[in-house]
Amino acid sequence: MLIGILALQGAVDPHGEKLKNLGIESRLVKHPKDLTGLAGMILPGGESSTMLHLLKLRGLWDDLKLFVSEKPCWGLCAGAILLANEVTSPNQDSLKAMDIGIVRNAYGRQNESFVSPLKPSSDWMDLESIEGVFIRAPKIKRTGSQVKTLFTFEGEPVMVQEGNKLASTFHPELSESNKLHQYFVKLCQESL
Ligand code: GLN
Repeated sequence: MLIGILALQGAVDPHGEKLKNLGIESRLVKHPKDLTGLAGMILPGGESSTMLHLLKLRGLWDDLKLFVSEKPCWGLCAGAILLANEVTSPNQDSLKAMDIGIVRNAYGRQNESFVSPLKPSSDWMDLESIEGVFIRAPKIKRTGSQVKTLFTFEGEPVMVQEGNKLASTFHPELSESNKLHQYFVKLCQESL
């Protein structure tokens, strides 16, 4: 099984390492042809406006939009912004693959980056809290009726799932645990 990692900009390499630790092969996605044969795809953190610009510039936009509408995908931070149906602060175009509304840079300047334990919801598989690394993170402000919350921080959703799509506003690739990558790998295996 081959999992793609969108590699236009941002925190790309740590995801490849995580997948390697789990015995899963990955491919960096930079051009439309790189999408062929992938079981799923990670859209990493970085700067969503830059990614948006590069996606359109490289002619990846339409093919990626189709891919994310069908296959398992996990958007992290800027990647979650790309997957959301609505993006505000400021308004921004997106792939509209998940029924969530997201607000960019929502934790404000004084609190741009921080680490905190995250609380699992009853929809997550165990009760252990996990570490959340937040870097100029967005907030998920609206979740549609089919969207499950997996983890919260201060009562607000920070990781959600809708069918075979995941969105998280923090960076598990920068924490020690492989648990969330394992969960995504399972989603990809189930959809083969
Ligand atoms: N602030 C970034 C954006 O709006 C997201 C930050 C991140 O991915 N860590 O795209």
